Amino acid sequence: MIGDGSLIKCPSCGYVGYEKEFKQLRNPWKFRFYTVQRLACPKCGIIFNYYNGTSPNGKRSEFVIWMKPKKTKKI
Ligand SMILES: [Zn+2]
Repeated sequence: MIGDGSLIKCPSCGYVGYEKEFKQLRNPWKFRFYTVQRLACPKCGIIFNYYNGTSPNGKRSEFVIWMKPKKTKKI
């Protein structure tokens, strides 16, 4: 780790980059002990929430939740 933020992996295309390489769509917010960032992948353009924090028992935890767009389908 070079101390330049975390490496984040896109849940869709598998692109791996540092936080700053992803487009930040809004200011980070807090969820429990996590800091949440809404990011867009520079490669495939999907949007996901990146959770990063340290749990109360001192364990580092990070994960992503893919914000899949709702598809409206005309029949
Ligand atoms: Zn991607």
